[in-house]
Amino acid sequence: MKRRTLLKFLAAGPFAGAAGHVHAAQPKTMKDVEALQAGWKNLLAAGTEVPNPAEPLKLSKDEWRKRLAPASYEVLREEGTERAGTSPLDHEKRAGVFACAGCGLPLFTSDMKFDSGTGWPSFFTTIPGVFQTSTDYKIIYPRTEYHCVRCGGHHGHVFDDGPPPTGKRYCNNGVALKFIPKA
Ligand SMILES: [Zn+2]
Repeated sequence: MKRRTLLKFLAAGPFAGAAGHVHAAQPKTMKDVEALQAGWKNLLAAGTEVPNPAEPLKLSKDEWRKRLAPASYEVLREEGTERAGTSPLDHEKRAGVFACAGCGLPLFTSDMKFDSGTGWPSFFTTIPGVFQTSTDYKIIYPRTEYHCVRCGGHHGHVFDDGPPPTGKRYCNNGVALKFIPKA
């Protein structure tokens, strides 16, 4: 890779300082964030059945392959990363809930989303208790990757350059998510 190409890649990638654009409803305090977390079901479409995070979904590799689209399988079960700018969910602005494409567990709401400018759907917080984290070293320095607590699916990485007040940026692969519009 030529140096200029690499720099371009770095500027666009998960290394980018990405507080980015934040919509008007951005919470100001951690109390506001907690209110968004507590009220996440307000963004759920009426009558949507959601799975219980305490009931794990365990399937074999073959079963996952049958159940998921190839791109989703690659991210969720093989810890792949989709190409930046390829997910329509990056520009999804409707009210609703982002659920795990593997098991249907609600993970984020539209109120938790912001435009990071990275080309991946980005969130400054999550619905509480839906992820487990671990450290990976795929790009020289350690990153915190997070997995769905119910099916173990890999979703993305969390960085400390998100907007205030959380300062967190959950950089999520769009193919790992299923958007459920509220209406
Ligand atoms: Zn899941």
